[in-house]
Amino acid sequence: MSSFAFSVLFVVFLAITLVVRFWLSSRQIRHVLAHRSAVPAEFAEKIPLAAHQRAADYTVAKTKFGLFSMLVSAAVLIGFTLLGGLQWLSGVMFSWAGPGMVYQLSLLVAFALISGLIDLPLDYYKQFVLEARFGFNKMTVKLFFTDMLKNTLIGAAIGLPLIWVVLQLMAKSGGLWWFYAWLVFSAFQLLMLVLYPTVIAPLFNKFTPLSDDSLRDRIEGLMKRVGFASKGLFVMDGSKRSAHGNAYFSGFGAGKRIVFFDTLLARLAPHEIEAVLAHELGHFKLKHIVKRIVVMFALSLAFLALLGYLKQQLWFYTGLGVNPLLLPDLSNNDAMALILFMLALPIFTFLLSPLSSISSRKHEFEADAFAARHTDANDLVTALVKLYEDNASTLTPDPLHSAFYDSHPPASVRINKLANKLSAAHG
Ligand SMILES: [Zn+2]
Repeated sequence: MSSFAFSVLFVVFLAITLVVRFWLSSRQIRHVLAHRSAVPAEFAEKIPLAAHQRAADYTVAKTKFGLFSMLVSAAVLIGFTLLGGLQWLSGVMFSWAGPGMVYQLSLLVAFALISGLIDLPLDYYKQFVLEARFGFNKMTVKLFFTDMLKNTLIGAAIGLPLIWVVLQLMAKSGGLWWFYAWLVFSAFQLLMLVLYPTVIAPLFNKFTPLSDDSLRDRIEGLMKRVGFASKGLFVMDGSKRSAHGNAYFSGFGAGKRIVFFDTLLARLAPHEIEAVLAHELGHFKLKHIVKRIVVMFALSLAFLALLGYLKQQLWFYTGLGVNPLLLPDLSNNDAMALILFMLALPIFTFLLSPLSSISSRKHEFEADAFAARHTDANDLVTALVKLYEDNASTLTPDPLHSAFYDSHPPASVRINKLANKLSAAHG
């Protein structure tokens, strides 16, 4: 491929991505506003009009903000690549460090810092303007910046050694470097499954064992019924940052733990909490989590193999606005290859994103059905109504926007399915 042809291909895919995203977002905004004046009939008794309209306004505000962020990211992407930003940055780092590992690591660090600084005002706006306007922000400005500092330090402490190993493999382990890098990367992912809940998450939140005895008995009864062993039930102070509620479960093997956001416990009745947990246990029991990990490993192997090919093609660099360093040791370009790959990959894979949404929604239905088998489906319905209402999720998303992006089916679809199960069971 010629460098020019690859540039053209890149611009074409970027344009397709922008046009499709813009089109879907404008559909979403139109659809939500068109249904703003009335609560959908099936929810009319459960959700007040004011809550429905708040959800509509929140959805529209988030979608508009998403469009703005998209334009900023596209401009930054073009700036880094075709307009020569990375070429310039590489020149600065190279004249400072000379050839070698220090140059490569400093190029990656500089790139990460610049990207982070560009995202900072957007993140700040999202939290303190958008989320705050709808009453979701519970964060102080101080916490926002402490979080940012912690994230940066942890990212450096974990990321730099990992990237160092990958760069060593790229330089020294021959044509199959991408396979060895994949082994390292996969081992790292598995290690994080253990380290994240036990070491990293506690740096950001307090986890206290669930102290409500009757709720604990209820949950332990459910876990026994479905055959699930856990290392503990924890409550996390999610209210420190956001009013959004959630429950999740994390860890691996013997380290599995169930975590409830305090915001969720405050809002749901015990039998509803049990139903929500049954849904989460469904994801585990139906092997959704293992399947997701296997897919992730397979994809990362394929992408690393692709990078193994691309990093040897001159057009891959020049087509994205970078002249590779023509030194005797070509491995000096490896960090740049990583950056270019991270930047370009999402543009070329965007049109495939509905595939992951579809599989995720299928899992959600299966987990709902699992919960309906092991608890009362009515409890899951009332819990879902409360959660969608509290999170101001729209009940009337544009069907196409939802099909493309949503990892969770719209509330009305989930609740209809559960209601059908109920009537089937009673009839
Ligand atoms: Zn789920």
